[in-house]
Amino acid sequence: MNTMPGRHFLQIPGPTNVPDRVLRAMDMPTIDHRGPEFQAMAERVLAGIRTIFKTDNPVVIYPASGTGAWEAALVNTLSPGDTVLMYETGHFATLWKSLATKLGLKPEFIEGDWRHGADPDSIEARLREDREGRIKAVCVVHNETSTGAVSPIGDVRKAIDAAGHPALLMVDTISSLASIDYRHDEWGVDVTIGGSQKGLMLPPGLSFNAVSDKALSASRGADMSRSYWDWNEMIAMNGNGFFPFTPATNLLYGLDEAIRMLHEEGLDHVFARHARHGEATRRAVQAWGLDVLCAEPAHYSGSLTAVMMPGGHDADQFRKTVLDNFNMSLGNGLSKLAGRVFRIGHLGDFNDLMLLGTLAGVEMGLEVAGVPYRPGGVQEAMNCISRRSGDD
Ligand SMILES: *Cc1c(COP(=O)(O)O)cnc(C)c1O
Repeated sequence: MNTMPGRHFLQIPGPTNVPDRVLRAMDMPTIDHRGPEFQAMAERVLAGIRTIFKTDNPVVIYPASGTGAWEAALVNTLSPGDTVLMYETGHFATLWKSLATKLGLKPEFIEGDWRHGADPDSIEARLREDREGRIKAVCVVHNETSTGAVSPIGDVRKAIDAAGHPALLMVDTISSLASIDYRHDEWGVDVTIGGSQKGLMLPPGLSFNAVSDKALSASRGADMSRSYWDWNEMIAMNGNGFFPFTPATNLLYGLDEAIRMLHEEGLDHVFARHARHGEATRRAVQAWGLDVLCAEPAHYSGSLTAVMMPGGHDADQFRKTVLDNFNMSLGNGLSKLAGRVFRIGHLGDFNDLMLLGTLAGVEMGLEVAGVPYRPGGVQEAMNCISRRSGDD
């Protein structure tokens, strides 16, 4: 593969296309991470990343994939055997829950149908029942990447407050940060988990914990074993622009540039662009006569769209047709959605014509693979985009 000329279309919902500016920024000699040049860069990046999470508090940066930051959030704030309330939005919520179980926590799962975001009312109801305060944290995935459904985090905060419950709120924004509006401080989130390879437009390899004061004070009484993930030494050394162990220097160069690019465009513009691409994609799907997996319009994702395959057709076979014929990677269906959905990633360094190329690849793929569909989805997306261009 990939002997085809031109750029491969990497339209999975992460890792995403890395912009040339970020690639050039990383193409640097690796410097002394205890020296003044590193210190100046790290101070800039550690301040800049707070503006992306919208927090005035520290953001811890790990050389790790997002899964590491999931673990870090739990081991820094909890004690063995603690109950955590998690919400089954889909595959990633389920993975986070099994990670919590392996760590010796007791996750309680509010069941979901993998077609909606989290329901704040059921979180509130469960917290009201917990009169002894056994639940120590509420964990929600903001943008469930397996389904393309967004959970209303501000409303989850309100639900916790309405129940008068002291649990910490932890939110996974790995596929929403820098793509979908997110406000760590304003929404009263205690730990926000992020990753580098989705909306932040970097290669995989960095992940984040944005932490509230409440999370920091919980960490002082938290008994879970931790060493590498421990926030305290990290935050202390970050205060001077350094890290307790070797940081991923070249990824930090890339992050520095990505933050610059996001602010040059303007975060509100970035969010509007993603929303527009989500809407245009859904219009195409509808015109093809196919169904979007997310069943609640208020939860539609600007990062990705999961599309249900017509009965009797295998989504993985379809993805293979698209890859072989058009050199484009689409996301697969995960766990119980395997073969039943394909996912179109429209996040990160992405524009109108890239979206139209992506949708053209899908529409031609449906034809080549013999999947029943109505032509005209790309035209619908074009109409939607040309109507809305200039809006943001
Ligand atoms: C990608 C993703 C993860 C997993 O991150 P890794 O970097 O693969 O460890 C977790 N949660 C969500 C919502 C994701 O999209």
